[in-house]
Amino acid sequence: MKALRHFILVGAPASGKGTQGRFLSETFGLNPLSTGSLLRREVEKCSELGHQVNYYMSNAMLVPDQLVNDVVRGWLADMGDRPWLLDGYPRTVAQAENLDHFLNSRGDSVDVVVWMDVSRELIEQRICRRRECSTCGHIVQDANARVCSECGGEMVTRKDDNLEAFARRWADFEAMTLPVARYYEARGKVVKMTINSERDAADVSRELAQKLEDFRRSH
Ligand code: AMP
Repeated sequence: MKALRHFILVGAPASGKGTQGRFLSETFGLNPLSTGSLLRREVEKCSELGHQVNYYMSNAMLVPDQLVNDVVRGWLADMGDRPWLLDGYPRTVAQAENLDHFLNSRGDSVDVVVWMDVSRELIEQRICRRRECSTCGHIVQDANARVCSECGGEMVTRKDDNLEAFARRWADFEAMTLPVARYYEARGKVVKMTINSERDAADVSRELAQKLEDFRRSH
């Protein structure tokens, strides 16, 4: 039985990836990479990469594969042998193939893909309430939150958190990212969490931990 060391989180925006990603990172000792957070920081820093991705991000469009692939490859190379979790990448089958190719060339592979399968109705409710810390990325479901309970940073509403932008992101998700979940499902790598009504995050984490343990035992 192999330990799980290389994780991917797949799910629509506001499907709870951030929260469950933190849980997984703590439980399995993983180094997390959220491509969305990384790219937002680059935009804020006005770096060269930030300039290249700003247009796509402010229009709630996916950044071109090549740009994200390069960022993730660089990050994974820096990781060396350390265990990791990718949140928000791969978002297209082309990105998944690129990642697999890169990992295979190093004698590595993805161990498990956690698929947060949350209904559209539930996500729309969450989007309308969601606030995110501008410093540490902590997310709460409270439209009135001002100060981050984790680090004291300023809580803000993300530019892409409105229903119009969400409709575009959901369409991208269905067209491009659901096939990623199916790509890994066909390879026997998926642990799927189906959620159709609001549940306590800790309760979801407990069920996820159990499913991962079952997955690990059967592989
Ligand atoms: P997120 O915080 O994961 O919802 O990502 C926010 C934005 O970052 C997305 O709407 C995209 O513009 C960009 N982004 C993040 N990850 C990727 C990816 N893997 N491929 C393309 N664009 C991405």
